[in-house]
Amino acid sequence: KKIGSRSISSFFNPYMREISETTLHTEINLRKGLDMNEFRLYLQPQMDCIRNKIEGFEALIRWNHPEKGLIAPVEFISHAESTGLILPIGEWVIRQAFTQLAKWKKSGQTSMTLSINVSPRHFLHEKLVPFLEMCLETYDIMPEQLIIEITENVAMGDYLAAQKRIIELRELGFLISIDDFGTGFSAFVYLQHFPIDEIKIDRRFIREIEENDKSLGIVKTIIDLAKLLNLRVIAEGVETIEQLNLLRSIGCKTIQGYYYARPMPSEEVEEWMGTKTT
Ligand code: C2E
Ligand code: CA
Ligand code: CA
Ligand code: CA
Repeated sequence: KKIGSRSISSFFNPYMREISETTLHTEINLRKGLDMNEFRLYLQPQMDCIRNKIEGFEALIRWNHPEKGLIAPVEFISHAESTGLILPIGEWVIRQAFTQLAKWKKSGQTSMTLSINVSPRHFLHEKLVPFLEMCLETYDIMPEQLIIEITENVAMGDYLAAQKRIIELRELGFLISIDDFGTGFSAFVYLQHFPIDEIKIDRRFIREIEENDKSLGIVKTIIDLAKLLNLRVIAEGVETIEQLNLLRSIGCKTIQGYYYARPMPSEEVEEWMGTKTT
């Protein structure tokens, strides 16, 4: 009887209730946000730092909440993952990305890439491939302009399923990028067995390249390895000219970070591109 009453009291533990209500609250709000079209896709440029040219953009989601203002993805993506709402949100992101690419194609920008973040749950979902196929039929774009960013953790649950999915997406013509490279579950297994196109060096390494010889060594090794394996490599989170010069000196060509630009609303992208190319 004692055990039973204890389990009941822990079931009605006020702390637990608070958590589940918050989650429920967030889920309802997220759904409302989707229905009310409150999400925004911000774009951050990826620059060729040798020729000072734009290579592409990464799409980063924001939630423009009517009361709370602009909400960063760290505040809601994990909730979206755990509630399954990441599926409609991820599909919204994909549609927006195709729309942007179609717009670029119309204005003759056919070599610009657009990178999107796909969460592990969505990446392994059975609906991802049919959805992308449907988008390819609907929008007139070239699939090699869309880069799908995943983290090493997608392979943690089901290694073979992740590998199979990467192959399927590449067969459709999309490119695959490993985000936050080296911070996850098994970077080298990825390089060895997964047919990927790009790796992104995490900000955690870039942040310390000037002060920390180990960070510099790691970054240099990742760049050399990427070249050896014929992969595009991007340094993320580059904020200063000193970091940029150091990266350039060790052979890194593509740079993403506040040094060039913060993520901007897609409506501002055309104007920003104008200031870069003229
Ligand atoms: P991430 O994919 O690693 O994205 C890079 C993050 O670094 C972005 O934060 C970006 O704004 C920020 N950043 C870029 N340059 C700099 C810099 O020079 N300095 C600093 N300090 N930060 C920089 P953001 O937009 O808040 O996104 C955070 C994370 O949320 C992303 O990390 C990604 O994992 C996730 N996320 C963003 N958009 C989406 C999305 O559409 N779908 C999914 N599933 N996840 C997303
Ligand atoms: Ca990313
Ligand atoms: Ca990253
Ligand atoms: Ca990250």
